[in-house]
Amino acid sequence: MSRIITSLLFLCSSLLLTSCANQQIKDIVDVSDSPDKEAGLYIQPELGHGHMQSPINIRSFKEKASNGHQITLNYKDEIKAVENLGYTVQLDFKAGSTVSYEEIKYDFKQMHFHTPSEHLVDGMTFPMEMHIVSTTPLKDKNTTPSYLVIGILFKEGKNNKFLDEFLNKIPKAEHTLAPVEIGAVKLGDLLDSKELNDVKNFYHYPGSLTTPPYTQTVQWFVFKHIMEASPEQIEAINAIEGNNARHIQGIFARSVD
Ligand SMILES: [Zn+2]
Repeated sequence: MSRIITSLLFLCSSLLLTSCANQQIKDIVDVSDSPDKEAGLYIQPELGHGHMQSPINIRSFKEKASNGHQITLNYKDEIKAVENLGYTVQLDFKAGSTVSYEEIKYDFKQMHFHTPSEHLVDGMTFPMEMHIVSTTPLKDKNTTPSYLVIGILFKEGKNNKFLDEFLNKIPKAEHTLAPVEIGAVKLGDLLDSKELNDVKNFYHYPGSLTTPPYTQTVQWFVFKHIMEASPEQIEAINAIEGNNARHIQGIFARSVD
């Protein structure tokens, strides 16, 4: 009799385990089928967007000396608006500033924030990353623009003058834009343009946009010098946009220089 009970118990527990495993598989499948895969708890390795995705973990000890290519800024410090887009805080540049790299000229468009950082350095996440986005002019709707994005990492530390210039100007309502007077918010208060003009100050690699459609036509320049911002400043931005960092992606055949 006791043998029968033991067998029954064994059968029951294995049925339970199987159904658990099935449920787990179902959960994983459900997540990968959902439109927003990035938001899922179980992220399937998926290469639907290609092998040149961003962000990545930058291994600082592996980087090679830059092979002489140069970026050239033709930059007027003219920020015209601050936007609350719900998923990020964005500052818009007035048209006219450019950055050139390997004979391609990109127009400065906007900069925005991620909390925490998207790029990792030697496996370390930073509390905030700013992206300065520039693109090639769009000739027509069918061409894909090329992008040059400068990534600036922030650690917790001293109060940051540049962030103070716009933090109290961010509109409270989502999807709202507030114009700012030219000269009131100056990127020059954060970054020295001489430092920006020297490619040796960056980790460079080819990658993608970190938000849909994940277009793989981005020259990434992650600034090596880590900026400081106060915990309150970082929290103020995180309170608006939440955690909006994409997970790191495989490097595959790419190298960082
Ligand atoms: Zn970004």
